[in-house]
Amino acid sequence: METKMMKAAVLFGLNTPLKIIEVPVTSPGEGQVLVKLAASGICHTQILEITGKNATGDHTPNLMGHEGSGVVEEVGPGVTKVKKGDHVILSWIKGSGKNSLPDKVDYDGQKLNRGFVTTFNEYCIASENRVTPIPEEMPLREAALIGCAVATGAGAVLNNAKVERGKSVMVIGAGGIGINMIHAASYAGADPIIAVDINEKKLDVAKRFGATHVLNSTDPDLKVKLDEIVGVAGLDYAFETVGKKHIMEFAYDSVNKFSGRAVLCGMPAPGLKIEIDPFPLFFGRRLVGTGGGETDPDTDFLKFCRMYMDGKYDLSGMISHVIRLEEINEGIDLMLKGECLRVVVDYSKQDTQEDDT
Ligand SMILES: [Zn+2]
Repeated sequence: METKMMKAAVLFGLNTPLKIIEVPVTSPGEGQVLVKLAASGICHTQILEITGKNATGDHTPNLMGHEGSGVVEEVGPGVTKVKKGDHVILSWIKGSGKNSLPDKVDYDGQKLNRGFVTTFNEYCIASENRVTPIPEEMPLREAALIGCAVATGAGAVLNNAKVERGKSVMVIGAGGIGINMIHAASYAGADPIIAVDINEKKLDVAKRFGATHVLNSTDPDLKVKLDEIVGVAGLDYAFETVGKKHIMEFAYDSVNKFSGRAVLCGMPAPGLKIEIDPFPLFFGRRLVGTGGGETDPDTDFLKFCRMYMDGKYDLSGMISHVIRLEEINEGIDLMLKGECLRVVVDYSKQDTQEDDT
């Protein structure tokens, strides 16, 4: 029998473009699921992996990507959560099911590393607990975003901070995660919602997703303008998605001294230290971090799908670029230049284009 092959975008060395290669599609092992990819988002985490700035170091050569969607092709022994034909979200966030790391991929005498889930490949062998079934009515392109950007951004607002109606929210960094924080704050009825970014185009986009006010982070009067917007009540919630020292400190310093909550979400460089005045912590101010928005895939992914399908949460508008896997390096460039909201690899776009030729 002829071996079935698939395309995968692989990082062979730090700070090099991903290489599109062909590798065999293998069968899933115990506790694993073979998924045919429909779509994958590109996350800032992959940029950190490429530049070697992520917390866990250099894993090259490795398969990439950690938010996606697809259709189950085959399940390995012991898998009970999904069956062939199920539509699923792929995510780095753990849900129920077995935790089973797929074998490395053989390629040209090398072993390619891969995590519990990878999404820059036409097929993925994922650990059962990184796969979540969703209704077939949910469009797979939009569903891909739920795996990380929505889970982390909306999760930080709805699960971690549990933002309530009428509360004031500031979001620093209006990228893929930040937009979801803004949109989820709007969904929760927060008011005002203040978006802060260095990029005016991103601030315009932020308004579309519910920001009531926008401030440029380079504005020397940033704090004064923020104080004018929130008034004497002070700021209830600050979310930051940038991971830089002064921005984390600004988030902490901006919230109400007695009741405010600052949520750190941006990935700091390993070893980074921040300086804060700890006194407000004794009076009630809170400083917390969030890993994946405390999202439980088993319950929250379906909830996010419903919010979209009910017309209460705009995922389509978050997708600024749809590309083929072969264009992945252009997509990564768009991320680096900040000229996009969410870039999505659509694997069906690829099929169609190939059929046309
Ligand atoms: Zn991500």
